[in-house]
Amino acid sequence: MSVQLVLPPGARKGRVEVSRENKYLSTLHPGKVLGELAILYNCKRTATIKAATDCKLWAIERQCFQTIMMRTGLIRQAEYTDFLKSVPIFKDLPEETLIKISDVLEETYYNDGDYIIRQGARGDTFFIISKGEVKVTIKQPNSLDEKFIRTLRKGDFFGEKALQGDDLRTANIIVDDPEGVSCLVIDRETFNQLISGLDEIRTRYKDEVTDRKRLNEEFENLRLSELRVIATLGVGGFGRVELVQIAGDPQRSFALKQMKKSQIVETRQQQHIMSEKEIMGEANCDFIVKLFKTFKDRKYLYMLMESCLGGELWTILRDKGHFDDGTTRFYTACVIEAFDYLHSRNIIYRDLKPENLLLDINGYVKLVDFGFAKRLLHGRKTWTFCGTPEYVAPEVILNRGHDISADYWSLGVLMFELLTGTPPFTGADPMKTYNIILKGIDAIEFPRNITRNATVLIKKLCRDNPAERLGYQKGGISEIQKHKWFDGFNWEGLRTRTLTPPILPKVRSVVDTSNFDEYPPDADGPPTDDLTGWDVDF
Ligand code: AMP
Repeated sequence: MSVQLVLPPGARKGRVEVSRENKYLSTLHPGKVLGELAILYNCKRTATIKAATDCKLWAIERQCFQTIMMRTGLIRQAEYTDFLKSVPIFKDLPEETLIKISDVLEETYYNDGDYIIRQGARGDTFFIISKGEVKVTIKQPNSLDEKFIRTLRKGDFFGEKALQGDDLRTANIIVDDPEGVSCLVIDRETFNQLISGLDEIRTRYKDEVTDRKRLNEEFENLRLSELRVIATLGVGGFGRVELVQIAGDPQRSFALKQMKKSQIVETRQQQHIMSEKEIMGEANCDFIVKLFKTFKDRKYLYMLMESCLGGELWTILRDKGHFDDGTTRFYTACVIEAFDYLHSRNIIYRDLKPENLLLDINGYVKLVDFGFAKRLLHGRKTWTFCGTPEYVAPEVILNRGHDISADYWSLGVLMFELLTGTPPFTGADPMKTYNIILKGIDAIEFPRNITRNATVLIKKLCRDNPAERLGYQKGGISEIQKHKWFDGFNWEGLRTRTLTPPILPKVRSVVDTSNFDEYPPDADGPPTDDLTGWDVDF
């Protein structure tokens, strides 16, 4: 599979035919783009393209495309950040705050003579001039004349009164530059929320590391050969997850995730797997599946985890069709607790979906599969395209760089799927799904059974602009917990695990796998050996 975006240039002649499983689908003419899925991520081609005439095509490799997108995003961010440092009211703010502000800025262009602000009008936006000159004028009493006050140029700002609570404009701002003017614009709400929100230190590290160490020490001397496979619990991207027991210890069971090394290398997921081990191995949260120990041999990597015998939330949702408000609230709350834990450590999860939520024997949900989780540097973003199409946030599709706010988007998607049985953005194939996502949540019709409060919360989570999402602003994730939809919800009971869950799974023993689907044996033979040593630290 070659990974290219192919673009027949408009000036040339040529025609290609699209087919799937020998069925003709369409003909593409010059100016059309094809192969666009493959530039986003490593996937199999979804259709066959055949040249119907001689064609001349332009091609770009995925790596190259992503690098360009990432560089453009980074350059834009760096330019804005540098620029903000030259603005007096911003200059003493820490770099990471400036980076965040850079992300919410909108650059707007105006023509010569345009009124950017009119005296007496109401407004709540703040402007910084990034190019050109404007004049400030004030109306004279009892006259149509405007008195010239001063000229403002690059680096100057105006509209600041609007950010300080007074929303009546006190002067005119008129473009006074034949080349026009461009301004960076911030609205009051975003400005206030970002600036005050950043005072809050989001890190709430407790001294749990020692706790976790003690837990892992128990398995320090355990060998792979001491584990007995009982049954298969699931199949993941790189292999199976088996229910296992330690020989001579019938009171407990574990989940052993087994991953083919050759396949990890083929799909270039080495880094993700190492990060999965590190994050899951350190996490000490009741809403995250614990990883106790890892093993490796010539063919596989193994992760020994706590077993969650209530099965996948996905299976329950499939059987019930959809959940009521209260049930959805409980599961969403479990995810919020897990996210709170991760996000306060600046870890992004990136793979929320009902398949990755497992019920323990008490009916509480835990997050599993940290293959896409990543620890970010403060104020920084990441660019890897990953996740499940229906849950991917628009900034991920657009390759603009993303951070923990992408998880809040997926939380809104999860709420919708739990309440209705289907995620809000679904197309016949990933590309169609992405197009629907880019049209935004307001283009989605909400079924009548979704309550008003739930609708409002989903829409606040699924904002196109990541910086505007609830959870990412002042007050952080507690803003979600305080939302009306959660009114009266017993968060303390959830944390202490005294709250009665909506569904109590039937688990008869530590080896009861009846809450899982059945899986046929692996059809592929054993994978090839991999002794290259990339996994020394696993
Ligand atoms: P993964 O490759 O991590 O996505 O795991 C694939 C599937 O295996 C999951 O969707 C679950 O059905 C099952 N599974 C993974 N981890 C566990 C666990 N700790 N306890 C029970 N089942 C699990």
